[in-house]
Amino acid sequence: MLNRILILAPHTDDGEFGCGGAAKKWGQEGKEVHYIAFSSARKSVPKGMPDDILEKEIREATEVLGIHQSHLTLLDYPVREFPAYRQQILEDMIRLGKELKPDLVLLPSSDDTHQDHQTISQEGFRAFKKMSMVGYEMPYNNISFSTNMFVVLNEEQVKKKIEALQCYKSQAHKPYSNIDFIEGLARVRGTQIGVRYAEAFEVIRWVVT
Ligand SMILES: [Zn+2]
Repeated sequence: MLNRILILAPHTDDGEFGCGGAAKKWGQEGKEVHYIAFSSARKSVPKGMPDDILEKEIREATEVLGIHQSHLTLLDYPVREFPAYRQQILEDMIRLGKELKPDLVLLPSSDDTHQDHQTISQEGFRAFKKMSMVGYEMPYNNISFSTNMFVVLNEEQVKKKIEALQCYKSQAHKPYSNIDFIEGLARVRGTQIGVRYAEAFEVIRWVVT
């Protein structure tokens, strides 16, 4: 059974976009959802905004998704420089993995081309290869994406995902802040399996106990 779920987000907001609907659903089902963000992307904050704004925004966004604040871990690796910190990132993952003992890990897909996302995907595989692991979808980073696992969502869960992403007022220029895009992608993934809404995932490893 999947009772303890761990979301690995390179930057604040990646987890909300990649699997915010599933996180909401699992929380509603009483599962324990943990979220680790490896950077609060201080360098990506628009001029004129406080440089810790993303830390405040992720707290609001994860709250909307029903993630307990004590299950949120914020690390501070410099955005776009993750490849230089591979070993440290791996060691953090191994340490946090031992503490949390997740049954399922969600991380950027193996086809994600962003350098920070690639680092989290690759080091995440090394750290968590003994357990079930799926990659989440970031259409603007992926060359291809294998849709071989789906999580069915209801309308409320999609609405909460949108609401969570809208907490990121500092990132309003990003594609994911477009409601039609988020809703449209959930509809596309739902249509693939004959339901109204879904999120799709790449199965990287699946362990049946
Ligand atoms: Zn990111």
